[in-house]
Amino acid sequence: EGDEVSKAQEAVSGKVAPTIFSRIIDRSIPADILYEDQQCLVFRDVAPQAPVHLLVIPKKPIPRISQAEEQDKQLLGHLLLVATQTAKAEGLGDGYRLVINDGKLGAQSVYHLHLHILGGRQLGWPPG
Ligand code: ADP
Repeated sequence: EGDEVSKAQEAVSGKVAPTIFSRIIDRSIPADILYEDQQCLVFRDVAPQAPVHLLVIPKKPIPRISQAEEQDKQLLGHLLLVATQTAKAEGLGDGYRLVINDGKLGAQSVYHLHLHILGGRQLGWPPG
């Protein structure tokens, strides 16, 4: 598949294809942004799967969690702590879920690393 070939070529070249999330970071498309700092952004998911459904993304365009590197360790920890702080600020004190989908079998659709925060209702387990 052409898309897979171009992803492989990007992996070799070290370049990363821009996604819709790059355009949210640079404000060329709108989003409901709740939090921003030098390293990350938090905004509401456009197709919420729970009463609260937020996305935490790094500004660095890491395509997927399986491509994160040792040098991203601090950034990855930061994303998790921003997620917990945002969940608290959104009133999710009774619990919530953090999800990272990776690749085709993980049902990832946007190839810019993102952490889902889902809450505001009783969640089921296991996920589909
Ligand atoms: P999936 O689409 O299977 O949930 P991902 O884990 O890649 O796969 O999630 C991408 C998420 O990004 C989806 O929940 C989708 O609703 C959300 N999304 C896509 N485009 C936008 C956008 N412009 N603004 C906010 N959220 C978006």
